[in-house]
Amino acid sequence: MLEEIKLQPHHHYLIKAKWILPITSPPILEGGIEVGGNKILRLGTFKELQKEFPKFKILNFEHLILMPCLVNAHTHLELSALRFKILSTGSFILWIRSVIKKRETLGLTEMKEYAKRAIDELWREGIGIIGDVGNTGLTLELLNNSNFYGYFFKEVINFKGEFTFKQYQENQFYSPRLKITYSAHSPYTVAPLLIQAIKSFNKKRKKIFSIHCAESKEEVEFLQTGKGPIVALLKEKGQWNESFVCPKLSPVEYLYSLGVLDENTLLVHTVNIDEKDLEIIKKTKAKVCLCPRSNLFTGVGLPKVSEFLKADIEVCLGTDSLASNDKLSVWEELKTLYLFFPHISPETFLKMATFWGAKALGFHNLGAIKENYLVNLIGLKFVEEPPEVPEKIWEFLITKEKEVKVRIYA
Ligand SMILES: [Zn+2]
Repeated sequence: MLEEIKLQPHHHYLIKAKWILPITSPPILEGGIEVGGNKILRLGTFKELQKEFPKFKILNFEHLILMPCLVNAHTHLELSALRFKILSTGSFILWIRSVIKKRETLGLTEMKEYAKRAIDELWREGIGIIGDVGNTGLTLELLNNSNFYGYFFKEVINFKGEFTFKQYQENQFYSPRLKITYSAHSPYTVAPLLIQAIKSFNKKRKKIFSIHCAESKEEVEFLQTGKGPIVALLKEKGQWNESFVCPKLSPVEYLYSLGVLDENTLLVHTVNIDEKDLEIIKKTKAKVCLCPRSNLFTGVGLPKVSEFLKADIEVCLGTDSLASNDKLSVWEELKTLYLFFPHISPETFLKMATFWGAKALGFHNLGAIKENYLVNLIGLKFVEEPPEVPEKIWEFLITKEKEVKVRIYA
């Protein structure tokens, strides 16, 4: 059973745990967190803090590991009904065709029902911040009624460039936790002028601009040569744009040439990239979201995690949708990354799943246990006893069987 504790702003609390993992500072054994006004005030060992503040209300989780909530920076909740309905064939184009076809068979009520189940699953997994992309907006009401922080990106798919903006239901669904804006699907499904217009819309409103980028080799081929299966698909769907001139650039270079890369742009996937692309990402400070299990499912390859880290690019994690994943679990993404990149420290992976994810979505007071940050914590119970030395805790966290036992939030 998952226990939920909603803190009262006028109370002072002292939270006790076996381990506290602040993420931005070293783990604390037998740790304590002082909380007041829904914010984190101090961190230390429980003993020290209790001596100073003996009268505070104590929340005792002495058997649990406490850490910040996880961030799933990229998913499409409205596609949740497609779980197990799409085969992994190793061909990206077959996958995309299959998604388009199966999606047409889904009714809105069914899509909403499955999206609701997916939201419940994300909550039980310990996710606190979501980047949700949708074409219908049917998940907005669900997110608005939930305790998640995050973004809803109303995604535009229009290569012909016929599209007009409306202030998307922003007033109808205002929540202090949820930000709502437009995003572009990808460089091969949205016309260049429209990509620029969506970026400019977001820039004016200080919102994040999200776009899938450099996911498949077919996307690279399309932008480099103007040929390949994507041309056929666009023509078939009546989306071919006669005025489109092949840029003869990589996807990252192309978006850079359109002037849409900066620290408030979130590039999703970025699997098929080279040294030059890495330099552009670094120079523009664009954010990167990796979805490794989705990449394995669609057969596009694995992201160049070591290269990103070597270039000091802080990447975050997403699951993408249940059309290319069997779970919306950031824990599973972490396990996969650690399996394929065992030379990278597990601590860095945890940072991707929390602090860097919150930063990428513009939540600068979440994703870590730090003074003045908002309280949004998860408490984990493990089948095995946790190690008592900090060096071993990160690997333990990723690889061992666990359950989110408590969620503490304001
Ligand atoms: Zn996606």
